[in-house]
Amino acid sequence: MLRRQVRDLAALLALPALWRGLAPAFVASSLVDVLRNVLRPDVVYVCMDVSAGESRSETHWPLTPADTVRKACQRWCTEAPRNTPWTVPHPLQPGELRLFLLRPEGLATGGGVVLVGSGRADFPNQQDRYLLQVAVGQAVISINDAELLARERRARGEAQEAVRLRDEFLSVAAHELRTPLTSLRLQHELVARALPPETLARVKSRLLGAQRQVTRLSELVESLLDVSRIVAGKLHLNLANVDLVRLVQDVVERMREIFNQAGCDVEVLADGPISGHWDAFRLDQVMVNLLTNAAKYGAGKPIRVVLAAEAAHARITVRDEGIGIAPEALPRLFGKFERAVSGRHYGGLGLGLFICRQIVEALGGQISVESAPMAGSSFTVVLPRDAAEPRRSSETT
Ligand code: ADP
Repeated sequence: MLRRQVRDLAALLALPALWRGLAPAFVASSLVDVLRNVLRPDVVYVCMDVSAGESRSETHWPLTPADTVRKACQRWCTEAPRNTPWTVPHPLQPGELRLFLLRPEGLATGGGVVLVGSGRADFPNQQDRYLLQVAVGQAVISINDAELLARERRARGEAQEAVRLRDEFLSVAAHELRTPLTSLRLQHELVARALPPETLARVKSRLLGAQRQVTRLSELVESLLDVSRIVAGKLHLNLANVDLVRLVQDVVERMREIFNQAGCDVEVLADGPISGHWDAFRLDQVMVNLLTNAAKYGAGKPIRVVLAAEAAHARITVRDEGIGIAPEALPRLFGKFERAVSGRHYGGLGLGLFICRQIVEALGGQISVESAPMAGSSFTVVLPRDAAEPRRSSETT
């Protein structure tokens, strides 16, 4: 009889499907029900996580004053040895409370207190005690599991909410910044036109400097807006016939000043035109991002762009001889806001490669990197020559 009861009880309490994922308070009140049915005591208390002081749940019947439970819990906190079952050592009087306390090994928080009282004169006899030990042991493990799971879920939910709020904020901020930046660019142009030639000659370099800063800011804002578009699944492609070699040469030409400032010689190698069905604007953006990085992280060293055509694919490799990337950073590099350098040494938002990957994947291609610290980096983009059907980009955090 006792064996069967113990087996049933243990099976019931240990059944992961029954306990896993349930709110700790629900597990606790279910435990109370089980104990009541099996032992038929007058009073059952379950207090959870009294040590951590949070997510506490109490279920009680009024035979024993509530503060007895509180005192017992306090006593447990100060007296109970960690990781070992512990019971009150003195013999019980009829109706007196008995404590069975367990803290599963390896768990720093959580744990449980179960107090069971009975008017029965022989309570708790050996059977009661054995049953309780088994039941409470299993239940506390389950409660801890449930609590850990609930905490994990809460933390994951909070992290997701924080990411959502960040994205929302950046999207709103980028939209708000766009209008004054456009107006600022216009004002610069109007000022340049309104100045007499001799004054313009004097302030021209400053004006150009200011315009460059506005352009830089606009690019950052556009990157943020692109991220919002990607997250919302609204990165639309305009496909047309494009000559990749021409496109890359144009980008390199346009970025000449950046390469000069960085002290980088740029070489573009290609056997002949490479035509494909792509989005020229987005491909331009990929090249600008990769080349900007090559100049930023490979300043003072040469950059080589190799373009190759295969039957169905085109391959672009951008190789620099700069600082390289630590192996542990490589897997996350194409994620949103991911960086492998300190913001103190290199400016940037960590969005360039994320946007590159989203564009390349939307065109049906792949982007990869080979790199080692201080040994330069090589980014390779492989594109199907006919990105006929624009794909929805795969969004990552
Ligand atoms: P950002 O350059 O604005 O930080 P990116 O998304 O373009 O953002 O790049 C992400 C990170 O990848 C960079 O912060 C940098 O650590 C690393 N990285 C990218 N390109 C290179 C490169 N050519 N050489 C070394 N590190 C690079």
